[in-house]
Amino acid sequence: MEFKIFYHDIFERHLVPIGHPERPDRIINLNKLIKNLFPNQIQKIKSQKVIKNILKVHTKEYIKNLLNLKPENDILQIDADTYISLNSLKAAETAVCGIIQAVDFVMKTNNSKSFVCSRPPGHHAEPDKAMGFCIFSNAAIGAKYALDKYKLKKVAVLDFDVHHGNGTQSFFERKQKNLIFASSHEMPLFPGTGFKEETGLGNIINEPISPSLDGKSFLEIWQNKILPKIEYYNPELLILSAGFDAHKDDTISSINLKSEDYLELTEMICKFANQNCDGRIVSILEGGYNLDALTESVKLHLQSLLSSV
Ligand SMILES: [Zn+2]
Repeated sequence: MEFKIFYHDIFERHLVPIGHPERPDRIINLNKLIKNLFPNQIQKIKSQKVIKNILKVHTKEYIKNLLNLKPENDILQIDADTYISLNSLKAAETAVCGIIQAVDFVMKTNNSKSFVCSRPPGHHAEPDKAMGFCIFSNAAIGAKYALDKYKLKKVAVLDFDVHHGNGTQSFFERKQKNLIFASSHEMPLFPGTGFKEETGLGNIINEPISPSLDGKSFLEIWQNKILPKIEYYNPELLILSAGFDAHKDDTISSINLKSEDYLELTEMICKFANQNCDGRIVSILEGGYNLDALTESVKLHLQSLLSSV
């Protein structure tokens, strides 16, 4: 029973234009937090070859195009709001390394949990394109790796970022019936997908929520609608797309969650994992753009993960 936080300083060097919400300060603050409050849980991500893992989710052509980009001293735009700088691909690749190492850790240690403190985020990146600040589809790559490497029957990605994880869904709905995707997300909001009717191969659960929803109703949706459906699939590992941008202080969305709502949600998911999938959770940072709200919410998320092992 153990909890580990996977981190790396390279995430501080993925640069974006001034004023962009998905900025290095997010991870600079979180790296300080984890080093101060969780010194016994942090583990620096080791470099390893993950291109084969990335290519199980992304197309060769997309990866080839990315590798042909030469940002050097510039910040290059690769999508409406996604950019890469000199260290961005290294950062995106290191995030994947962290996820693979986090999966290996929870699969080899009984009732263990992990958090990958990385950026850029991943859940909008589609198999053939970058999108919405995201370069690689982190949660999908981790889920596919876990399924294949450990011969699991089912892996579920639970996405509580305020935006719909269109990229994760896009991979899962393409002949990946053993990968389950469940998402709660504000609607209408970017990227505009995630309707209830989008069920993929029967492996997609979408719960669009109204901008006026309060924390109590948000938690009820997870407790009464999403988790009972996940239980039906009987996954052996949960991967969390942990976005904290539904916070009341985050101007990117209208939903008004409090930091404590993320604590309650994490407790609920940990209890579910402990009862249903040997406690295995790999949580990956997605969004969250108000620095104070992000830091406080992540702190509570990590404390809850730690106290549940
Ligand atoms: Zn988001």
